[in-house]
Amino acid sequence: MFTSCSLFIPYSFPLFFALLLWLVLFFGRERQVKSIYLDYNATTPLDPAVKEAMLPFLSDYYGNPSSIHSIGRKVRAFLDDSRERVADVWKCKASEVVFTSGATESINLAICGTARFLMAKGRHIITSAVEHHAVLHTIEYLVNKEGFEKTILPVDAEGRVNPLDLENAIQNDTVLVSIMAANNETGAIQPVAELGAVCRRLGVCFHTDAVQWFGKEPFDNIHQFNADLVSICGHKFYGPKGSGALFVRSPLLPDPILFGGSQENSRRAGTEDMSAIAGFVNAVERFVPSPVFEKSFLLPLTTRLSSLCSHSGVNLVCSSTLRLANTCCFTVSGADSLSLLAAFDLNGFCLSAGSACSAGSLTPSHVLSAMGFCNEEAASIVRISLGRETREKDIDLFLSLFPLVINQIRNP
Ligand code: PLP
Repeated sequence: MFTSCSLFIPYSFPLFFALLLWLVLFFGRERQVKSIYLDYNATTPLDPAVKEAMLPFLSDYYGNPSSIHSIGRKVRAFLDDSRERVADVWKCKASEVVFTSGATESINLAICGTARFLMAKGRHIITSAVEHHAVLHTIEYLVNKEGFEKTILPVDAEGRVNPLDLENAIQNDTVLVSIMAANNETGAIQPVAELGAVCRRLGVCFHTDAVQWFGKEPFDNIHQFNADLVSICGHKFYGPKGSGALFVRSPLLPDPILFGGSQENSRRAGTEDMSAIAGFVNAVERFVPSPVFEKSFLLPLTTRLSSLCSHSGVNLVCSSTLRLANTCCFTVSGADSLSLLAAFDLNGFCLSAGSACSAGSLTPSHVLSAMGFCNEEAASIVRISLGRETREKDIDLFLSLFPLVINQIRNP
């Protein structure tokens, strides 16, 4: 026989969850309207003028640039012109620009393509412990599946690689060094030109993942990194997602990683996405030579955010001036990134942690671990990254809410 109580329990659970769901949806929807986006290192909105530049290729100019008829040739002319325009900004040869689907593809082509192209010379690759997973996992793949060896360089407490460590790590069989220009989590800027100069002096190919550099740091020309390969993507500076490029310094010819047609001078098979390329070129011209992330506007805002470390147990990561002006990263003792991000989200702030979310949990940031933070600290990372739409009042609101949110999480 069921008692009234035993009947109530199984029925009350669905009711309880329905109520919870309603509350989350209702309040979530209300909050969404007011969301303040502070996650510009993850991606930026598409600039309206960039979008305009893309539209013709989503309608009238639909031809395949490899077709020899007039409709294809029209698009081919735009493609050739786009390559010239990027080369003009980069101050390199047009043949040194390879259009890709974004940073991950550029990085994979740079690393796998160069390692395989040069493997008769050696199988040793050097990178740093703070790289994006697009670099680390690609090298890991070459080590596990293709018999390459790797050296992972350490970083100092500010997340920087010492050029002397690089010099000491280079062996006779080193074929490639890959070190990023600026870190996506902490904003730490590497001495990339110096690192590149070491490689050039010792005759080793140098790739830099400069994804977070473009549109944020001064850019004069692509040779400023002393790199043979430079990876870049459009959506980090108001261009479209799925757009990017790889600079390949001639005469280097990485093996292709995509096989098929002979597009991109046989370095990247597949019909070109002309709308993405048009948006990318437009964003490069407008937002790279004169960085769209203006330091004079952003630095005072991130400097104000640095005052967060006056709260007990809050530590600023990468306090050095050698960091991206738009980025402020900190750890919060007694809290974890997932709870922090969820709590800030409920309060209307879109922030980020160091690593991707998998199965509802965040692994400690490998970048912070490499900088000497313990596991607990590395699992409490929060990254704030600002953009041109950020307003002083957003920062004021964040600073005033911060102690309340932290308190809620520490004392649930
Ligand atoms: N490299 C860095 C430094 C990044 O910040 C990112 C993205 O956040 C990537 C590579 C990969 O970019 P995407 O996922 O757009 O290909």
